[in-house]
Amino acid sequence: MINFQYARATDVADALRQIEADPAAKFIAGGTNLIDLMKYDVERPLRLIDITRLPLRTVEETADGRVRIGALVPNSDLAYHPLIDQRYPLLASAILAGASQQLRNMASTGGNLLQRTRCFYFYDTATPCNKREPGSGCSAIRGINRINAILGTSEACIATHPSDMCVALAALEAEVHVAGPAGERAIAFADFHRLPGDTPQLDNNLQSNEIVTAIELPAQGFAKNYSYLKIRDRLSYAFALVSVAAALELDGGRIKEARLALGGVAHKPWRKSEAEAALRGQSADAATFAKAADLLLRDAKGFSHNAFKIDLARRAIVRTLTQAAKGTPQIQSSKKVR
Ligand SMILES: Cc1cc2nc3c(=O)[nH]c(=O)nc-3n(C[C@H](O)[C@H](O)[C@H](O)COP(=O)(O)OP(=O)(O)OC[C@H]3O[C@@H](n4cnc5c(N)ncnc54)[C@H](O)[C@@H]3O)c2cc1C
Ligand code: SF4
Repeated sequence: MINFQYARATDVADALRQIEADPAAKFIAGGTNLIDLMKYDVERPLRLIDITRLPLRTVEETADGRVRIGALVPNSDLAYHPLIDQRYPLLASAILAGASQQLRNMASTGGNLLQRTRCFYFYDTATPCNKREPGSGCSAIRGINRINAILGTSEACIATHPSDMCVALAALEAEVHVAGPAGERAIAFADFHRLPGDTPQLDNNLQSNEIVTAIELPAQGFAKNYSYLKIRDRLSYAFALVSVAAALELDGGRIKEARLALGGVAHKPWRKSEAEAALRGQSADAATFAKAADLLLRDAKGFSHNAFKIDLARRAIVRTLTQAAKGTPQIQSSKKVR
């Protein structure tokens, strides 16, 4: 038994005061990832600061037509919220592709962003892992790396970010709002998560004394032509081998605007401006989609067990863009379950 203290924060200022006073502490929201990591002895916080009572549970439209999502909105409430279901169905679809109904009921929006990798070795404290213990080595590079990354990897780490929700947020160009001792700041979603480089212990650019307060979505929701496709080993309750979020704005058969993000392939949701530029102004057909897929995967590199992901991703991109263009999005099997 490893002892730790538990305290409840009353508001954002109180949460910030508590984390500033004890840098070895951790915020806890739904606990669906942090508690597992503590049980596996991967995380050893000396103090948990429970933030579940903070007033960050609303989804509301802002005066300029954006939508602000509180960091503590549970994943299920978010997916079924009318504003999200109707204006941002890509986000709703990605959330419903993740975890199980029970987990989605507990998991928070902020926690989903900050969940840690599912690399087998990260959870196995008997093996070297640079993310868990910087400088110890990476067991996955020459080990069982079927679920690991094919893009943006480094010699120090080939882990992926496991979230589905974040892939849709990347495609929608959301903003992450955070508060810290210096006040509030907004981080573009593309700049929130990091590539591993030589500091794989850092998953994102949030400082340890900051708290995520909200996510903001731009007004453009791509509600007509979108699709989220998740390829995994089991139809439910499994993380993505590859996932694709596609959103298009069409003008007849031509693409006016395009967003394309991949999950399950890198340390962060993977986008490339050249791939989206190759879609804009083009006819929405298989040849255009294949070209965008090639550009998005241009720098992909497979390891001993995951090279199959490159071809899988290429085909998944073409299929997802085809679904988006036709207005026939992938239906998640959990869509009707509440
Ligand atoms: C069996 C299983 C299957 C799963 N399958 C999927 C899946 O298919 N797809 C998917 O996307 N996810 C999946 N998940 C992951 C799940 O979505 C995450 O565990 C969940 O979103 C984390 O949210 P939480 O509120 O429980 O976070 P917690 O566990 O409470 O916290 C996670 C981390 O975030 C930090 N944190 C939480 N909130 C804040 C905040 N507001 N500000 C700063 N730091 C914060 C905590 O300190 C901690 O480090 C699965 C989880 C499990 C256990
Ligand atoms: S890929 Fe990253 S998380 Fe996995 S063993 Fe290597 S360093 Fe650790």
